[in-house]
Amino acid sequence: MEIPIPPSKGPLVVASENGRRGALAAMELLRRGGSALDAAELACQVTEDDPQEHTVGYGGIPNALGQVQLDASLMDGRDLRVGAVAGVEGYGNAIRLARKVMEELPHVLLVGSGAARFAAEMGFRPQDQRTLPALDRWRQRFDELGLHLGEAELRHLVQRLTTPLHLEDRVEQGTVNFLVRDGQGNLASGVSTSGLGWKYPGRVGDSPLIGAGNYCDNRYGAAACTGMGEMAIRVSTARSLVLYLKMGMDLIAAGLECLRELERLEQVPGRYMNIVAMTPDGHHAGFSTVSGKRYLYFDAEMEEPALAPRMTLV
Ligand code: ASP
Repeated sequence: MEIPIPPSKGPLVVASENGRRGALAAMELLRRGGSALDAAELACQVTEDDPQEHTVGYGGIPNALGQVQLDASLMDGRDLRVGAVAGVEGYGNAIRLARKVMEELPHVLLVGSGAARFAAEMGFRPQDQRTLPALDRWRQRFDELGLHLGEAELRHLVQRLTTPLHLEDRVEQGTVNFLVRDGQGNLASGVSTSGLGWKYPGRVGDSPLIGAGNYCDNRYGAAACTGMGEMAIRVSTARSLVLYLKMGMDLIAAGLECLRELERLEQVPGRYMNIVAMTPDGHHAGFSTVSGKRYLYFDAEMEEPALAPRMTLV
């Protein structure tokens, strides 16, 4: 087992491996005295705007019908305030919309057409999130499997399109998540994704679901997930990890216990779950149900974000 990295003092960003650009932007804000909540939102936004990032925001992976539907959530560890959106189509920066839900509505989660309506009301400009490379990849998958849209009921196509043929095949999906501690010691967490590639329209993963893919509480710590969202939803991974911390487990024990819960689910080739977590005193760690995965961390004393291996059960 890996030796845990010593705790960081002061501002700290912990993220999924694809969070480098977002972490740099977040740390710049934190060094200027910015809040954890603003930094978590900014970090997600920077990733959403990056067309090279094919699993988040603009240029994200389309669903089975070739539409990009975005999910995001943001949580404030000071007071457990939350904002989230799911299945957002035709608008970008789902994380900014999630922040607006937190601040402008007596709700925590908006979906689909309601979320789009709210985006318009908040002054967001409609923007097609589909890029040509993403649409090419979307079509290519049909070709690889010899499938055609409309040849069968969509549920049968989705079954084929989202199931890797071999254990080593990747399911095309991805998410960015950020756990942030600011100079005041407050925590916040943000998650943004286009979800599982070729998903059934309207499918919602763990990322916008507080408790499943995102959870944060100043008193105990923060956790967020990437991977097959259905797994984290079924065992409430992010909230469980923070609850284990509350009940007195240390960070490593809490993360490994989450992996044990995930291990109880049936194992499907290519499907996995990753967790990042941090405690209020600056300990951080990453966990995964499969080996070889890494996470990113960046504290105010470092010049560059660094990658560390995620722990597994074996
Ligand atoms: N967790 C995301 C979802 O299931 C996808 C991912 O993280 O890869 O929507």
